[in-house]
Amino acid sequence: MEAKTKATLIHWFRKGLRVHDNPALMQIFTTAQAAPKKFYVRPIFILDPGILDWMQVGANRWRFLQQTLDDLDKQLRQLNSRLYVVRGKPIEVFPRLFKSWNVELLTFESDIEPYAQTRDAAVQKIAKAAGIKVETHCSHTIYNPELVIAKNLGKAPITYQKFLALVEKLKLAKVLDKPEKLDALTQPSRDELEQENDKVYDCPSQEQLVKKPNELGPNIFPGGETEGLRRMEDSLNDELWVARFEKPNTAPNSLEPSTTVLSPYLKFGCLSSRLFYQRLKEILAKHPKHSQPPVSLVGQVLWREFYYTVAAAEPNFDRMLGNVYCLQIPWQEHPEHLEAWTYGRTGYPFIDAIMRQLRQEGWIHHLARHAVACFLTRGDLWISWEEGQRVFEQLLLDQDWALNAGNWMWLSASAFFHQYFRVYSPVAFGKKTDPQGNYIRKYCPELANYPNKQIYEPWLATLQAQREYGCVLGEDYPHRIVKHELVHKENIKKMSEAYKINREVRTGKQEDSMLNDDNDELEDDRSATGKRKGNKAAGAAKRRRK
Ligand code: FAD
Repeated sequence: MEAKTKATLIHWFRKGLRVHDNPALMQIFTTAQAAPKKFYVRPIFILDPGILDWMQVGANRWRFLQQTLDDLDKQLRQLNSRLYVVRGKPIEVFPRLFKSWNVELLTFESDIEPYAQTRDAAVQKIAKAAGIKVETHCSHTIYNPELVIAKNLGKAPITYQKFLALVEKLKLAKVLDKPEKLDALTQPSRDELEQENDKVYDCPSQEQLVKKPNELGPNIFPGGETEGLRRMEDSLNDELWVARFEKPNTAPNSLEPSTTVLSPYLKFGCLSSRLFYQRLKEILAKHPKHSQPPVSLVGQVLWREFYYTVAAAEPNFDRMLGNVYCLQIPWQEHPEHLEAWTYGRTGYPFIDAIMRQLRQEGWIHHLARHAVACFLTRGDLWISWEEGQRVFEQLLLDQDWALNAGNWMWLSASAFFHQYFRVYSPVAFGKKTDPQGNYIRKYCPELANYPNKQIYEPWLATLQAQREYGCVLGEDYPHRIVKHELVHKENIKKMSEAYKINREVRTGKQEDSMLNDDNDELEDDRSATGKRKGNKAAGAAKRRRK
């Protein structure tokens, strides 16, 4: 029977959940197109039901993934193929598929995360033992982190400026279109699929993936390649906005996002970072007077590249201990404060509004992330960045191993950024871009009747006034858990002490430069010193629509 002798080419989707600019998918399509009588094409996604229980993924991100898989299946069907969702653990699934599908070639996108590397090495070993060819392609980032590190003589560049200098000399990979439609011969026949009971390969439903539907928020950022591309086009439509973009001038607390919100799409690879970068460059070429990294939009994408590169060289990137970049700081454990922060009950309305937006919607602005991360760690609560990272890991749609850890280290002044004496005020910071407190009124509705002058500091209102506003502290909204004006000063002293000890421990070692306070990346943090250039944020926010 022909079906038994025909070989199968598998592309394994993990991240990179798209058909455009996907070299590993393209490889099996072009191979099959060249010899349709010889090959079947089966793009797969492996869903390990076990991870639904242990993975730190909130309901909103499960929904995003479910929508993404649905969309991917639709895209593939337009190319005369489909998505095969296979249930099980990769190391158990592959031996089965290799045999029953008579597999000849397996392709996938490379991944720098330690968990993925272990998994991929195990699968490659199984494939090798079965005599199956495996090809991997680097397409989650614009530059291959390994090549950047090699260019730097085997060491990861530890400053953004150094990283920029290195990649300037690297060639960009060609951005691919989506593959051509497959010949019908490359698909197993109806009979064969029925014999296999192909319904088992259907995409999971929302009910199957979202175990806690009561935790779902509004579906503001639907998952999928189609939406990712649409969102990118929408952002790029306003070329002047793109050319003038400066991150410190966007608002952490606008009611509509003041930045692109492409991060969830880039995280899952619904959108190719290489395509986004190319499109940005094309626009900038038409507008020679454009903003520059680190604050420009291109600069933002390059932050992503920077963190991927440094993370690729450190398997302990997501923890303090054993992490070559990370200063050792004696953080305290304080479960009540951590819980108050996690659920938006610190008594600081700006901080609470941000944490509630995160829980409801799965996305918050970069500077809002700055505010709550500084508050949790070196600013106010003196709790480890790893705790904050865990909460973000669960709640963010765009949760990303390298970016989450890298940015948490930055904000806690544990690595990459060392001006620990620049602390965000949980009161003044938000006021700059939203003096009326509309953002707080939206996410902390119990405070909605407070006047502008007290909405950021409800403790200033008398008890009688609190009653008039319908929100009494300690009853309807918490008292603040710490006094920022006192604790942040104590924490700066603790930080100074920790830096001193780290310096002593590291003296004479190559990491000295990591403690250099004069690094160039501080533009990203200008808002902390009040150097923001006027309030352009509201205008920018208005232009940025979903
Ligand atoms: P835009 O400003 O429109 O930027 C475009 C793209 O550039 C983003 O989509 C993102 O891919 C990249 N980018 C922008 N800023 C950064 C940055 N500082 N570092 C790395 N890449 C960046 N981003 C994630 O994607 N996943 C995370 O898990 C994550 N965790 C973070 C944790 C903390 C404590 C902080 C302070 C930041 C974190 N970030 C993370 C970075 C940043 O906040 C988001 O990428 C950005 O806010 C996403 O919104 P956007 O797509 O509108 O960004």
